Amino acid sequence: MPQRLENATFTNSFVDELAGDPSRENVPRQVPGYHYSPVVPTPVAQPRLLVWSDEMGAELGLARPSDQGAAVELLAGNRVADSMRPYAARYGGHQFGNWAGQLGDGRAISLGELPGQQGRRWEIQLKGAGPTPYSRRADGRAVLRSSVREFLCSEAMHHLGVPTTRALSLVSTGDQVLRDMFYDGNAQHEPGAVVARVAPSFVRFGNFQILAAHEETDNLRALADYVIRHHFPELGAPESPEVYVAWLTEIARRTAEMVAHWQTVGFVHGVLNTDNMSILGLTIDYGPYGWLEPYEPGWTPNTTDFTNYRYAFGQQPQVCLWNLTQLAQALTPLVPDPELLRPALNQYVATFNRSHHVRLLAKLGLTASAEEEADKQLVGSLLPAMQAAQVDMTLFYRHLSHLTVRLLADEPVKELATELLSAVSYAAPAAEAAAPLRAWLMQYAARLRQEPATPEAIRAGMLAVNPKYVLRNYLAQQAIEAAETGDLAPLHTLHEVLKRPFDEQPEHEALAARRPSWAATKPGSATLSCSS
Ligand code: AMP
Ligand code: MG
Repeated sequence: MPQRLENATFTNSFVDELAGDPSRENVPRQVPGYHYSPVVPTPVAQPRLLVWSDEMGAELGLARPSDQGAAVELLAGNRVADSMRPYAARYGGHQFGNWAGQLGDGRAISLGELPGQQGRRWEIQLKGAGPTPYSRRADGRAVLRSSVREFLCSEAMHHLGVPTTRALSLVSTGDQVLRDMFYDGNAQHEPGAVVARVAPSFVRFGNFQILAAHEETDNLRALADYVIRHHFPELGAPESPEVYVAWLTEIARRTAEMVAHWQTVGFVHGVLNTDNMSILGLTIDYGPYGWLEPYEPGWTPNTTDFTNYRYAFGQQPQVCLWNLTQLAQALTPLVPDPELLRPALNQYVATFNRSHHVRLLAKLGLTASAEEEADKQLVGSLLPAMQAAQVDMTLFYRHLSHLTVRLLADEPVKELATELLSAVSYAAPAAEAAAPLRAWLMQYAARLRQEPATPEAIRAGMLAVNPKYVLRNYLAQQAIEAAETGDLAPLHTLHEVLKRPFDEQPEHEALAARRPSWAATKPGSATLSCSS
């Protein structure tokens, strides 16, 4: 029987087991020597529930609350349960490659943990719940548009099978928040919101980096042991260099798997600073992210990154390795010889390459064969061909899945290629740019014939890994614009459709369409910033 959130009993392992700031002064300040600061959320004017995740609620054994009332007061930070010990974590990070010192939870406040279905514990964190000692010059709040984006995308990623933090609720606050969306002197009032997000832990690479930077080695070891004890128990009792090495290796493996997922669904995180890297290998901190529509490795929606394109789609595998290297650097005080940590970084490269290849093969309906080099060549030549032909990444794989049966029935590849291109390309189908993709299809058709499975089984396998529905940038923006005028229907529809991304859902065909041309340059769809 699901219980009401206001009756739930929270546990507080982070606060109970790690050193907390003795000061209760809620003003921006440095917090050397501690892992977190106890801080109470600042109440909002008029909290109202806009969206609830039934799946996350069920995992936590929670009943869906009504739009207003005690549960929504908790989800907005207007009320704190007796069993909660709310806190903001201290962390640092490299922002765009430069060490930025202390950052910390400037607008996120963790409430505590609730048990899940399989004995797992989940931490509940409010994003936008008011200032903390880590707020620096900002207000501790979040706007509706960025909160809708975090809620929708984290849940969509979960349903795609991508490792991610989750969202439980989205609450509007009734307060206005002042934001300069493109940092160009045009600040405006926008509706505020709070997302309750959920993960086994929100610890980031940056939590370790700040301790290493301040030479707080006892705290560093305590945090590593805490994370291993709770989240990597299979590695055995911590406090030995071997366990720390095995732990970093596992973090590297999980991070590699996460990035391999991103690269095969077309997700661009947008701000891969080391403070936005989860120690559990989860996609975390949904800010100016985007989904590839035309396949373009150099693309990012984040205008803050338009000088270097450091976090563009094609850079993500490299940059996550760079981030892991910073984590390894931070962990060196825990091992007698830093060289011991190097194999973990090699593990990242090996895992990413393997996982990326295997995922691409599956997307193409191919099983690993003895001709591994030939397969690598086939898969490798597809990506530049997709880029040249300006195909929509999601639509390309989805249409290809349907096409396999006809390719295997020996329909002329040339004609099928024309049909495919006209359905999924953003360029004119006759364009010369499409020649490599046409040539690739010929090779692919030949390779597909070597597969032992029936054409129908191949198609079914491909449809199960190539989503029809992803959170297209302009769809998120449309849902936001409607929600800002009080119309929640598009938001609720998107939320529902994205729970079944691999199902045809023919009644929602419009949500699987190619990006309309007006959306190619529209702010909020094509371009975003860190202002959220
Ligand atoms: P992000 O770019 O969202 O990863 O944030 C980087 C840092 O800025 C983190 O320490 C955030 O907590 C902090 N931050 C971002 N927005 C706000 C805000 N509105 N109020 C306080 N801190 C913020
Ligand atoms: Mg962040």
